[in-house]
Order: sequence, then C-alpha cells, then structure tokens
Amino acid sequence: MTLTVNNLIIWMAKFADKIAVNKQFLSDLDTPIGDSDHGFNMDRGMQAIMTKLKTEPASLPETFKVIAMTLISTVGGASGPLYGTAFLEMAKKSSTTTDLVDLLTAALNGIEKRGGAEPGDKTMVDVWQAVIPEIKAHTLTENKIASAVEATKDLVAKKGRASYLGERAKGHVDPGAQSSAYLFTALLETEGL
Ligand code: ADP
Ligand code: MG
Ligand code: MG
Repeated sequence: MTLTVNNLIIWMAKFADKIAVNKQFLSDLDTPIGDSDHGFNMDRGMQAIMTKLKTEPASLPETFKVIAMTLISTVGGASGPLYGTAFLEMAKKSSTTTDLVDLLTAALNGIEKRGGAEPGDKTMVDVWQAVIPEIKAHTLTENKIASAVEATKDLVAKKGRASYLGERAKGHVDPGAQSSAYLFTALLETEGL
C-alpha cells in the first residue's frame, strides 16, 4: 500500500466524481444539523483540485501540497481547513514515507489537533478513526465504511455547527462523515494501492 503521484491523482479523481454526484445529498445531510453547504463546499474544492492537477506535480509531497492548499483556499467552512490540514500533514509525512497507513495516521492526528474533535463527537473523525485500522489490516469494505457513517447518526455532536443543536442532532448522519466515506470508498476503488 504505497502511494505514488499517479495513484494519488487517480484517488482524487474518483473522490471528486463521488462528491460531484452527491453534492446535493451532502448538502441535504447538512440541512437539519448545519447550514446546507457541505456538498457545495466540497465540490467547489474538488473541481479546483482536478483543474490544478492537470499540470502534474513533480513529487508526492508537491501533489499533496497542491491538494491541501486548494482545499484550504476554496472549500471554506469548517471542513476546508480540516481536510486541508489532513492533506498538509500527508504532504509533510510523504517526504519520509509513502506508506498509506502512515500517511493517513498523520492526517487523522492533524484533523484531531486542528479541530479538537475526538472519536464519538459526531464528526469526520469518526469515519477516519474507524477506517484506518481496517486499511492496515487489509479488511476495509464499503459496508464497513457505511457502518462508520451510520454510527454517527444517534450521537450528540460535540464539535461544529451540529453541536449547537444538542440532543436535536440525534437521528441525523454527520455530513463530514459521509464525505469522508466517499474519500475512503474512492481509495478502495483505486487500483494498485
Ligand atoms: P460548516 O459547518 O462551516 O458549514 P461544512 O458544512 O463544510 O462546514 O462541514 C461540516 C463538517 O465538518 C461536519 O459535518 C463535521 O464532520 C466536520 N467538522 C466540523 N467541525 C469539526 C471539528 N472541530 N473537527 C472535526 N470535524 C469537524
Ligand atoms: Mg455546512
Ligand atoms: Mg458553512
């Protein structure tokens, strides 16, 4: 499970496609417990990334950096800086390793440090922390990703806009958990990893 410039770009293209197809759905998830923009935020960022990646960066750290900077500058909201931090941490880590699990672990640590969320707080962190050990064990499936998203449904949110709702956030899946699920489904579909 080694990342290269080539398979990273394939992974991002698949992620961008899933976000584009599901942008309305993601924003609908963000309606009862947020401000209805998550899918549109992410789609704007991923489209910008795919345009930038047409000029292929020279190295893995450079590729991660282009992705990170574009997420930070175009997505906005809470998710832009958080996904941006994830990719920035992978940019840093990729100067010393190309191992996917090491890179994803650095990314998750960055998200947790930046946003202060812990597993169980009903955020994207819930999906990242459930999925990384499964990738490590070569046991990740689409169903396991879906279960991690579903597990956010009955939680009370401790971070982000949904936390303003208290108990009323219960019964709604977290939109950032769902977009992270697309990231990891895209990874599963990326051959050669
Ligand atoms: P905003 O809430 O600013 O409109 P988005 O709608 O794009 O931003 O993203 C919302 C998602 O960001 C949430 O569903 C959640 O998964 C994630 N999120 C928000 N705050 C945090 C945080 N502190 N740590 C981790 N993830 C967070
Ligand atoms: Mg929102
Ligand atoms: Mg917003």
